Amino acid sequence: MIMSIRPSQRGAQDAYIWLPSKSGEYTAKTGYHISRALKDPPAETQQTSINWNADIWLGHFSLKIKLFLWKILQKALPTGENLLNRGLFDSTCCIHCGELETTEHLFFRCKFAQKVWSLAPFAKNLDLSTIIFDASINVLKRLVCLPPTGISAGPLFPWLYWTIWTARNHYLGEETPPSFTKRGNQRTLHPDTVICFTDGAWKQDTAIAGAGWIFTNREGSKLDSGSLAEPFASSPLMAEAIAIRSALIHALEKDFLHLQIKSDA
Ligand SMILES: [Zn+2]
Repeated sequence: MIMSIRPSQRGAQDAYIWLPSKSGEYTAKTGYHISRALKDPPAETQQTSINWNADIWLGHFSLKIKLFLWKILQKALPTGENLLNRGLFDSTCCIHCGELETTEHLFFRCKFAQKVWSLAPFAKNLDLSTIIFDASINVLKRLVCLPPTGISAGPLFPWLYWTIWTARNHYLGEETPPSFTKRGNQRTLHPDTVICFTDGAWKQDTAIAGAGWIFTNREGSKLDSGSLAEPFASSPLMAEAIAIRSALIHALEKDFLHLQIKSDA
């Protein structure tokens, strides 16, 4: 366990980060809200079939996500339907397709949400046509992720909810809709950009990670490459991270200051 920890190679100091605040610094305000939410979930939440302690408050995901799930279940997110119930009649339509933005539409029925779920590495397909949010946690927490992602520390579904929600908010603040295919191409690259392809492999029985990387210029000509094997790796995801970190260290040594990383992690 201790050997699998990768400390900074450049001497960066360890630091405490308070996840609920944007700056990472603890504030009394966020501390107060978190302690209230953890100790004292609202009484009406006890009446649902959700096991609040096991599925939300003790779930293996961040406090930010726990509060986010709590807000959805309390109908406290400013979705179109919730705004409508509070007498606010504009901004009630789905930003992707124009349907009424109910919780179920936003997270399951909309084509955008269905695309997100279909791209997730679950071992079996989901039927999103009838699922309702309050019952979804019981179903989704049992889903197994396929290798090679190595996501095993906690369930993936809360992060998919978060992704769908933040993509929606991103679109509200910007002119172009979120896209699955064009995001990388829309950025303007610096003329000196070096492209770096990385990949990692992992063997469970030996806990050894193999990592490889190759640098090319924008025309595709090879500039440099490298590979290494590292013991004490704990997952395929860690192997991918080792590949990216090794590539970044070599890019610094080679003075590649404008880098685009392409990884399948
Ligand atoms: Zn929609």
